[in-house]
Amino acid sequence: MAKAVVVFHPGGIKTITRFNGESDKQALRKARKFAQRVEEEIPDHEGIFLIDTLNPTSPPSGAKRPSGKFWCPYCADWRTFKPWYDYLRCEVCNISNEDWYVKKYNRLWSASRGIALRDQALDPKELEKRAKKRERARQRRLRRKEGRG
Ligand SMILES: [Zn+2]
Repeated sequence: MAKAVVVFHPGGIKTITRFNGESDKQALRKARKFAQRVEEEIPDHEGIFLIDTLNPTSPPSGAKRPSGKFWCPYCADWRTFKPWYDYLRCEVCNISNEDWYVKKYNRLWSASRGIALRDQALDPKELEKRAKKRERARQRRLRRKEGRG
């Protein structure tokens, strides 16, 4: 897996096409060519992105994180990470916030910070539902403890 082209098609469909070359340069050339073809053939696309899943890129030095976004080392850009089960995933390349480089460049090493950031991305209703679920689980644990004692 090296270079890939992500296309947002009309109607909310997303495709990821991967390019493996004998060299990085060759893969890049193939990916660029493909992106250009999509541009010509699907003029009403909703976005074409060239990503590099092998060579993570660091954010520009001294750059400040735009609110609600993370640095995606594979898109080499600031991206919205969307909730996906217990993770957040880059809306373009799908990499999760558990990736080593995503953690490194966004300083997500502390688990509680990761959860706080994930919760920020969830809508309030979903958060309330999760809080209630946690509370019910806590009550169950307490009851079990009492039963033993
Ligand atoms: Zn990405």
